[in-house]
Amino acid sequence: MLERLEEPLCPICGHPTVEPVECCAACRRHRPSFDSARALGAYDFPLRDTVVALKRRDGRCLAAQVAPLIAAATSTSFRPAAWLTYVPMAGKPEAKRGHNQARELSLALSEIVGIPTLGTLRLTRYVKDQGQLRPAERASNVAAAFAPRNRSRRLAGLIDGRDFVLVDDVLTTGATASACAAALKEAGAGRVDVVTLARAIHTQKPS
Ligand SMILES: [Zn+2]
Repeated sequence: MLERLEEPLCPICGHPTVEPVECCAACRRHRPSFDSARALGAYDFPLRDTVVALKRRDGRCLAAQVAPLIAAATSTSFRPAAWLTYVPMAGKPEAKRGHNQARELSLALSEIVGIPTLGTLRLTRYVKDQGQLRPAERASNVAAAFAPRNRSRRLAGLIDGRDFVLVDDVLTTGATASACAAALKEAGAGRVDVVTLARAIHTQKPS
């Protein structure tokens, strides 16, 4: 069964909490650079399998199928006059696979919410697969690893002063999304609200 994430949630990272809070303990310790993160459901069956399937060759069709569910569950994240953007992938896996699942989800969401997707970021250096790392190692793995995808004045003008919805397939520690949000804000972006298909849930609810 799809485990939806019901309120109360941390207003920032979207993790379920015991009671309504302004900010969960994890966000108090390390305040993420994004303003909010919301997901369709828990990173568990069946969304865990959906995340894997999105990476396969036929993942594009799947993105179009799950996008309406994501849009409905995260509707408060989509503000008018915002751009949709996505977490870029390291060059090699994307080239091998032919698509970036975060970009595919973003494009599918654009169709539904009527907000265009703008490719804004690139990886500036090699990063290890976050899935292979312990939570404590993930923030340093992706710290300052993202930057605007080019130095053009056009892109700088499109980012500066605009709000963004940052799309990814899954949010685990939030380190990657936070590093992307930091890069967007450094380039002048306003709010960065993260929308993902799934979100990892820690067994103990933070207070
Ligand atoms: Zn939080």
